[in-house]
Amino acid sequence: MAVTFVVLLVFVAAAAWWMTAMPGRSHSGPLPPLSDAEVDRRRRLEGHVRVLAGEIGERNVWRPDQLAAAARYVEDQLTGSGHSVVGEDFTAGGVAVRNLVVERRGLILPDEIVVVGAHYDSVMGSPGANDNATGVAALLEIARGIVHRQPRRTVRCAFFVNEEPPLYLTDAMGSLAHARRARRRGETVAAMLSLETIGYYTDAKRSQHYPFPFALFYPATGNFVGFVANLRSRGLVRRSVASFRRHAAFPSEGVAAPGWIPGIGWSDHWSFWQQGYPAVMVTDTALFRYGPYHTREDTPDKVGFDRLARVVGGLERVVAELAD
Ligand SMILES: [Zn+2]
Repeated sequence: MAVTFVVLLVFVAAAAWWMTAMPGRSHSGPLPPLSDAEVDRRRRLEGHVRVLAGEIGERNVWRPDQLAAAARYVEDQLTGSGHSVVGEDFTAGGVAVRNLVVERRGLILPDEIVVVGAHYDSVMGSPGANDNATGVAALLEIARGIVHRQPRRTVRCAFFVNEEPPLYLTDAMGSLAHARRARRRGETVAAMLSLETIGYYTDAKRSQHYPFPFALFYPATGNFVGFVANLRSRGLVRRSVASFRRHAAFPSEGVAAPGWIPGIGWSDHWSFWQQGYPAVMVTDTALFRYGPYHTREDTPDKVGFDRLARVVGGLERVVAELAD
């Protein structure tokens, strides 16, 4: 009986290590002052979030004019930074909707694609500043940065429609349409990052919550950015966290856990898992930290733009390394 218990304990400890141990060390201590480039980045990020969540506001198929306005804003920004935008058009509940996609083709391995995605819709009743104008702003910034780069692999930035419930996990979900199309075309998605709700950070004690049993392994203070994968994407999440930690002086945590655990699959990375592609969500953990999640209170003033600028700077480097 005692032997069985010890064996079980060792097994549980090994499984926990397998899911939670990440390479490198999370940044701790005070954050360095923002560089001039980071101040510029913060200004652009804040501008995007204020337009999407402040001026346009709630945007989804029940607010089709606002959804279209958000798509137009994203398209104008991409065109303005020198991209030609491909629209993936379809209808959802009788409403014409679209994903917006830009690419920088790889020089050496053009058929290996690194997809970075963010959903631009917001849930019913919410202006969606943190969820997910922050992810869209980050992706606009990443897209802007790749225009003049020559990556080895192809980098694709995809702005997805219809991530939020009740369309989440249905055929109307933009990322699912995109991932299915990629599979049909025989595309090799080498890595996918879903930028999902990445703008809220706090140093308050006990501000961070988790689905059971992760509180045993992770910090109680919600000041870090999280990288979340299923077990099959463990290699990708470890590479992403290692890269982020090399380049960003900002706290970070990573996990590779069974996709059925609540929260692990809650964004556009799920769609890529369905098609057998490795995919990771980058997130401030949303409802596990952020009170205004999915409410009318999710407004631009809740977003920490200084810290968002630091996170996005790190993510730019992660994307560059995944593509090289
Ligand atoms: Zn969301």
